[in-house]
This record gives sequence, C-alpha cells and structure tokens, in this order.
Amino acid sequence: MSFPEDPRLDEAKAKDIAGLVDRLAIQGLARVSHELIGPCPLCGGNDRFGISLTSKAFNCRRCDLKGGDTIALVMGVLNKTFPHALDWICGELPPDLDPKEAERRRTLAKRDRERQEGYAEKQRKRAVDMARGIWQEGLAPEGTAVEFYLNLRGLTGVLPRLSKCLRFHPNLPYMVKEGQQWVELHRGPAMLAAVQSQQERAMCLHRTWLDLKEPGGKLVLRGKDGNPIVDDKGKRLKVKKTLGSKRGGAIRLRTPEGTDTLIMGEGIETTLTALIAQPSGMEAAAYWAGVDLGNMAGPMQKIQGVKHSGFPIEDPAKPCFVPPSWVKRLVFIMDGDSEPKMTRAKLECGIRRAQLLNPDLVGLIVPTDPGTDLNDMLVGKTSKIEEGA
Ligand SMILES: [Zn+2]
Repeated sequence: MSFPEDPRLDEAKAKDIAGLVDRLAIQGLARVSHELIGPCPLCGGNDRFGISLTSKAFNCRRCDLKGGDTIALVMGVLNKTFPHALDWICGELPPDLDPKEAERRRTLAKRDRERQEGYAEKQRKRAVDMARGIWQEGLAPEGTAVEFYLNLRGLTGVLPRLSKCLRFHPNLPYMVKEGQQWVELHRGPAMLAAVQSQQERAMCLHRTWLDLKEPGGKLVLRGKDGNPIVDDKGKRLKVKKTLGSKRGGAIRLRTPEGTDTLIMGEGIETTLTALIAQPSGMEAAAYWAGVDLGNMAGPMQKIQGVKHSGFPIEDPAKPCFVPPSWVKRLVFIMDGDSEPKMTRAKLECGIRRAQLLNPDLVGLIVPTDPGTDLNDMLVGKTSKIEEGA
C-alpha cells in the first residue's frame, strides 16, 4: 500500500522565505547579498543567524537551529513536529482535498518557485557582470606583480607558455560582510584568472590578492595590531576568492593543439608547478587548474559504513568538472596538504566520472609529499639550492 504524496509538501517548500520570516516574527534580519542575516530567533546575538534566499538553508553559528528548507525552519523556530509545521505553513489538509483546491495550491506553489528561481538567476547574472567588469579592468600580467609573484613561487618564465587566462589588477577591492553590510577591508594588486565552462566561455573570475613583501607573495590581511585577521573558526581570511559560478569550469592555463592528455591540480600554482616540472612524456599535455577539490570530484555516492566512497553520483543540481572529449589521459595532482583519504576518494570519484563518459580514458592520481602541495615542494627545493650557493 502506498500513500499519495501530500500536495502541501511542494507548496510548503516553495513558500517565499521573506514572507515566512514575517509570519514567524523573526526580528532584526537584514538582507546582505543573497542572505538574510541577523540575531538568532532562539539564542539572540547580532549576526549569528542567516537564511539563504536562494537555497532557503538556514544556520545559527551558536545553537542547533539549522536546516535546509522552510518546513525545517518552522519546526526549529516554533518547536513543532513535521506534520504540525506543515499544517502551520499550508493550513490543515482537508480530509478529501477537492481536486480544484489541489490544483490551485499547485499553481500557487509553482508561481512562488518561479519567482524565487528568477531571483537566483538575477543574482547569478549580477555576479557574472561584476566578474566581467573586473576582468576588463585587468592588464596583461607580464612585468607586473603577477609575474613577480609567480617568480617568488618558483614559476619563473612560465607566463609565455600560457594562454591569456591570467591578468593583473592593480587595485582590486577586498570586501567582507560586517554585520549587515559589505565593507572594503583592503584594496591592492591581485592576480585574476578566468574560469571557463565547457562551452569555452568565461563563467567565473578567480582572484588572488598579492603582497610581494609577504614570504609566499600572497596578501595577509592584518588588523590594526598587525596580527592576521581570523574568522570565527580561527582561520586566516582567504585571499583567494571566486566570483560567479565556478562549478563545471576550469582555469585553462595551457592547451596545446592536438593534445590528448590533461594534467589538473586544484590551484593555479600547483598546476603550473607540474608544468614547470614536466614529467617525462608529458611535454605536450594540457595544464588546467580545477579551482577546488569539490569541483574536480563532483557529488559522491553515500555508502553506509564508508566515509568517502570514491564513486560518482549524478546530481544535476551540483554541476562539476568533466573533461572534454579529446582527453584520453587524465592526471589529477593530489595535494598533500588536505586529509589524504578524503582527498584521494574525491579525486577517484572525479576520474570514475570521466571514465563513465569515456570508458577508454586512462586516469592517474599523482600524489605529492604529505603535508605539502606541489608548489611548496618546488619552492622548498629552490630555497635549498640558494642556501647551498
Ligand atoms: Zn541560535
């Protein structure tokens, strides 16, 4: 025996989040980019609670109030069970729902959903426009801080071998959310990189803020006391950021004509290190940066009792990188600076996904020394030579 699905589920999940916040009388939330941020309705504070206007996921940094949809929000804030939360959002289900009433609810739900999808689409377009504007302000990297930065990372002479996917921005603002608004924390030189989609169009901008006075050449954001600024997890603020949707894309650093081999690392520096090192037989390969591990791996199957299965799963909502059809050999560079089992499983997942599309594809994972990425090894080696000289 099976139960017909409650028609109110779609309706509840499609509810406009701002309207629901009003009905729940959650006070003090302010719109910041595509989120509502403010005090937690359960435990207070100033800005510890946030709701995404696009995904409707919500999260308090202090208490247990977190979840992924409108029903969970009502359950959490009003301490209701699932059926009661559904009743509260949509009204009780009449014993025999009139087909006309069911149709009316479906139409309303559809309209809500379309309005919100329109909003998400607008946000995406805005990010792409901003990314394009910044890219157009960028200058050729030769002779700029980008070239000096690459030299510092042991990548001297690499620029002429690359496609025009890197640029220099002399004065790029670094923005952070402070409470309810965006504040400019820093402005300075940066390396820009174009993240391209399968269709070869630039879809996303990758930015690395530079400070050649720092040992690694990357900016360290410091407070008035001179100490690095850290986030609520105690980590230094990231000076590599993307703008726009990176998922499914790659930074196509070098793509020689007629190649059938793609070598991919996560970051620009790691991938360029592999290019400089040129493993034998790989002289004619393409070198692309996958931007992050999640993009290279894509969604992974959950298998009970196994932490990271290493097997891909289809999820159209989570696009990820897949190699173009000319790739017969795919080499993933495995950084040693993240948890090795998880990293390997993710890379295996990405290679298996590529092999599902092209069963003849040969996949290879090349590990670097534990605790380092390939570029650390190169720089380490370089400084050793200098010390000896
Ligand atoms: Zn809370």
